[in-house]
Amino acid sequence: MSHATDLKAMRKQLQVKRKEVLEGVSRAREMGSVETESGAPDIADRATSAFQREFSFSLSENEGKMLSLIDEALARLENGRFGLCVHCEKPIEKQRLQALPWARHCVACQELQDRGEM
Ligand SMILES: [Zn+2]
Repeated sequence: MSHATDLKAMRKQLQVKRKEVLEGVSRAREMGSVETESGAPDIADRATSAFQREFSFSLSENEGKMLSLIDEALARLENGRFGLCVHCEKPIEKQRLQALPWARHCVACQELQDRGEM
């Protein structure tokens, strides 16, 4: 497989994942809006829907983080820096990229970060 083919496959994978995340976000928003439209006749119900709104908000926040990782990876594809660790600038392991095309760090730097040593 050529390098260009690899990058094309990565881009495809990122775009598929991006779509999945976006659809997940819109599903969460739909659930939130259904809850609001059904009306809340008393305080207990209003408290419940407030809780659910907050829940769906935090869900989109996580998915927002995922989206920005994906967008960063797509930007790196555009500027030719895709597959390079953002910390040590060494190439990220191919297997790692295949599993996590939005990875920002190589395995060594990721371990440092996981241990809080970065
Ligand atoms: Zn690194």
